[in-house]
Formats: sequence, structure tokens, C-alpha cells
Amino acid sequence: MSSELLKALGLDATNAGTYLGNGEWSTATGGELITPVNPTTGEAIAQVRATTDDEYETVIARAQAAFKVWRTTPAPRRGEAVRLCGEALRANKDALGSLVALEMGKSKPEGDGEVQEMIDIADFAVGQSRMLYGYTMHSERPGHRMYEQYHPLGLVGIISAFNFPVAVWSWNAFLAAICGDICIWKPSNKTPLTAIASMKVCNDALREAGFPDIFFLVNDAGTTLSEKLVEDRRVPLISFTGSTAVGRTVNEKVARRLGRCLLELGGNNAIILDETADLKLAVPGIVFGAVGTAGQRCTSTRRLIVHRSIYQDVLATLVKAYKQVEGKIGDPTDAANLMGPLNSESAVQQFLDAIAQAKAAGGTIEAGGTRIDRAGNFVLPAIVSGLQNSDAVVQHETFAPILYVMPYDTLDEAIDLQNGVPQGLSSSIFTQNLKTAERFLSAAGSDCGIANINIGTSGAEIGGAFGGEKDTGGGRESGSDAWKVYMRRQTNTINYSDSLPLAQGIKFDL
Ligand code: NAD
Repeated sequence: MSSELLKALGLDATNAGTYLGNGEWSTATGGELITPVNPTTGEAIAQVRATTDDEYETVIARAQAAFKVWRTTPAPRRGEAVRLCGEALRANKDALGSLVALEMGKSKPEGDGEVQEMIDIADFAVGQSRMLYGYTMHSERPGHRMYEQYHPLGLVGIISAFNFPVAVWSWNAFLAAICGDICIWKPSNKTPLTAIASMKVCNDALREAGFPDIFFLVNDAGTTLSEKLVEDRRVPLISFTGSTAVGRTVNEKVARRLGRCLLELGGNNAIILDETADLKLAVPGIVFGAVGTAGQRCTSTRRLIVHRSIYQDVLATLVKAYKQVEGKIGDPTDAANLMGPLNSESAVQQFLDAIAQAKAAGGTIEAGGTRIDRAGNFVLPAIVSGLQNSDAVVQHETFAPILYVMPYDTLDEAIDLQNGVPQGLSSSIFTQNLKTAERFLSAAGSDCGIANINIGTSGAEIGGAFGGEKDTGGGRESGSDAWKVYMRRQTNTINYSDSLPLAQGIKFDL
């Protein structure tokens, strides 16, 4: 099954990991080999040849040449290029979704959902290509006019995480493309095959329609090439999605060269249930948020803050729901399963370490918390009670299905707990009380980039700007006006009078 799938997407046992432009994939044999592993079986899927230094230089040179053409291509025409990518992804959705499930380990419906997200952002970007608006202003000087415009920025380096191996690229690349930029993608070295496959799908569609190269791909077996990209002054924007630890070093390096950085880093997301919460909505919202993608979403629900009056009931209901999930953990390519494996052996170790730390801090494991005795990286999702929000293990994002459940008495206390972590990505409250909902959304409420009412923390739509505060990095991508980060902004003043008055009424008579 896996070899047929690879073949259908134009992949081989050993694959070039570098798209050089001009329809060429690298043929050099010198690069290191990357071996993505199927997290369901622990077996190698195929190999990918990493990008050499010479290939990297070719990519940069060709991307710079492509930018000169693309920056003056009318934006709606650029939108047409992205529309074709969206159509090509539609045609390949099933196969690409299966490859995401195979290589990353998320369930097949979630793999398909990820490809759907690429299609959605393509549609969004097509419309946005006709709406790269700037303001016009009234000048304080007679006979003058002011306005601002947005110009293409240049080369955009996209470094993405393993857990959304293709959607994150498209969020950046399709908007950057309509903004007139050229993208160089460095995917996670745990998921290079999905990157190569989606790059082939999009670039073949672009070439067939006669568009220039706008999307390049490089792969890195370690971090040397990635760091080179981060430090490269020829790349004015680095969009980085990944852990807070790596994002922090990326930010420092880009800041040193005064480049622009878009950071999408870790989350430690909480749901609050007040005493009026509708549990018919809340329970599935919590379970999907905590267990979906095996807890490997940046927006996964990691903390549950429950009003003391319903705390015991909610805990008992969740333990029962987790028992149901336990019967549906298995091969993610089988659509009947709700949860697949963790992506790597090291992720299993981090899960087990966090459980041990939680126990040592006095926590009670209410459900799961162990490795499943079978091939692959399967664990039983855990519910942990009895810890303080301030405990080190609760403060830290463990990228695995662990839910810490805590009681509260007053809304102020619940909001303080929700905000009382270093990260600030996604948050939500289940309540039927209008005043409580509005308090949660107010300036004195959630401090996160995403704050929801009566839906969980996980599963954002592409139409909104996506990102978070504090250790989550502050970046915004995808919908709303997130396109602006991919452009440079210019203010223009035009004098159509016969005199030269100075601003602020300054006199300078010669
Ligand atoms: P990671 O930080 O280990 O790796 C992310 C990317 O950085 C990979 O492509 C990796 O190869 C690359 N990288 C590693 N070291 C580097 C270096 N020194 N310089 C430059 N690049 C380097 O993260 P991961 O394990 O792949 O992903 C999980 C993390 O990503 C979690 O913390 C999760 O919350 C976060 N994430 C955040 C968002 C968001 O939108 N906020 C989305 C997805 C994932």
C-alpha cells in the first residue's frame, strides 16, 4: 500500500530533496540521506537526499532571478497561479492526505483535512490577490496627496514543523506568492516526503500553465543548512513554525541581521468550564482537543480548568470518554481510528518522562499514561489530576496527549490560571453566561492570540489570523490581514501644487 501511494505521488525509494527551479530536481548524490520513519510500524518509508551547499546557492540565485519577474507580475495574475495550485491539490487530496497520515501519523480524516486547509488557503489567497489594499491619507499641505502601497518583499524562507507537514507551508507560500514573493521551503526532516509530493503537485501545475518558478524546496538532514537559511541576508523574511526553544534562537539570529521573522511556536492551551457549561458540547470539544492528532497540535488542549461544583462529574465523564478512545487507537490510515501514534520514539519518551514527572509532583493518573505494547509509537492518552498550574510539568508544553485537570472557584481565578503559563496561543471557555463570555474575551480576559466561546482550543479556520502571544512568538499567518507581513510598506507623498510647503509649517526660505 505504501509503495503504491508513493508511486501515485511521483515518489521513489530514494528521492531528490531539492527543487532547483526550471523543472529540475537535484541529481547530485553527495548530500546526506534523510530517512523518514513510519510511526505506525517503526519502519523506514523511503529516503530523501538532503540539499548540498552548492544546490542551496543555485536555489538562492534562481529564486532571486524569479523574484525580478514575479514582483512585476500583476497581483491578480499571481492569484491565478495560486488558483491552479489549489485545483491541483483538489485533484490529489486523497493521495496527499494518505501520505500525511502515513508519514506524520495523524488520522486519515485529519490528513485529508490538512490538505483541505491547503485548498482553503489557496481559495482565500486568490481573492486576496485583488485586495492588497493600502490607505489613502489627507495631506496637511495644500496641493498634496498621500497614500501608502504594499510592494513584494523578496525571498521568504519557510521552516515548518512535523505536525502540520504541508498546511503550514501553504498558509505562508500561497499568501507570499500573491504578494509577489518567492518561497524557499525547508520542511521538517521527519516529514520530507509530504513536502516533496506537494511541491511536485503545485510546481507541475504551475509549469504546465507557463508560470515561472515561485516555490523552491530544500531539505536538511540536521540543522546546518537551516541555520544558513536563517542567517542569510538575501532572505528578508523567515517564517518559522516549531518549538519555542528553536524559535527563540531563530528570532535572535534574524534580529541580529535586522531581518523580519514570523514566529509560530509552542502553546499550552486551556479550556475553562464554568458552572453553566453545556457538557454536550464541552466533552467532545475537550476530547478532540486533547486526543486529536495524538496531542500533537500546537493548539491541542493541555489544561482543563473546571468549576469546583462540576469538577468530579466532568472528570468521571472524561475518564469514560477516554476508555472509548482507547478502543480506537491504531493505524492512522484506517479511517475508523480516532488516534494514531506519536510521530517519533523520542516523543514517546517525552510523554513517559512527563507522566513520571507528574507523578513525582503528586499528580494522579486518572486515565492512560502508558505506552501500548505493540510496534510503532502508540501511547494511551493521559488525564492527570491533583497538580498545581504552577508545577513545572504543567507549565511546559509536552507535545503528546496529556490533559491536566484543575478545579477553580471564581472566574478571576480561572482566567489567572488560564493566563498563568509562558505560552499564549489558544484558549476557550464553555459557558452559557453572556457576561462570563464577554469577560473572557475582554482586555482583562484571555491573553492568547486565539480565544473561543463554546468551542475547544483546537481546529482553527484559515479565515482568521492565526498565532499567539508570549512564548508562542507573536506571529500571525493565514487569514485576516496576515498577508501584510509578506510585503514591504511604502508611504508616498505627491505634490501637484506650484509651491513647496514643508510639513509642520517649517519655514526654509532661500
Ligand atoms: P522543532 O522546533 O523541533 O522543529 C521545527 C523546524 O525547525 C523543523 O523544520 C526543524 O528541522 C527546524 N530546526 C531545528 N533546529 C533548527 C535550527 N537550529 N535552526 C533552524 N531550524 C531548525 O519543532 P517540531 O518538533 O517539528 O514541531 C513541534 C513544535 O512546533 C511544537 O512546539 C508545536 O507547538 C510547534 N508548532 C507551532 C505551531 C503554531 O502555529 N504556533 C504550529 C505547528 C507546530
